[in-house]
Amino acid sequence: MRRKHAFTCINCPLSCALELTEEDGEVLEVTGHECEVGRRYAEEEFRDPRRTVTTTVRVRNGVIPQLPVVSTRPMPEALVREAVKALADVEVDAPVRDGQVIYRDLLGTGADIIAARRLDPRSRADEEG
Ligand code: SF4
Repeated sequence: MRRKHAFTCINCPLSCALELTEEDGEVLEVTGHECEVGRRYAEEEFRDPRRTVTTTVRVRNGVIPQLPVVSTRPMPEALVREAVKALADVEVDAPVRDGQVIYRDLLGTGADIIAARRLDPRSRADEEG
């Protein structure tokens, strides 16, 4: 069966509206792209959509209670919800370095989860104040 799929290219500010036509999984045509990057993007989004995971994990004794984290590479979109759920149980101790590995090879995807910022420990003055 022939089907059309719509995507918005995210590779530059033009945000071209892409349309991919396929038949039984075989790509027949991509339209709406202004350049080759957009055509490739539409095919990747159709065949193997991937997303960078961004979320937060809990921090013990940090100046703030949550640490923003990010995956080192995009992972299959179908696994993102499960990945965020797995990270909900993770807790780290301050201090944390920017880029510090928080979790290795999440769900066997080869993507590590790293700290997106530095996080200092709470000082005694913070605790008293
Ligand atoms: S198709 Fe090319 S020009 Fe259009 S948004 Fe994507 S990268 Fe930009």
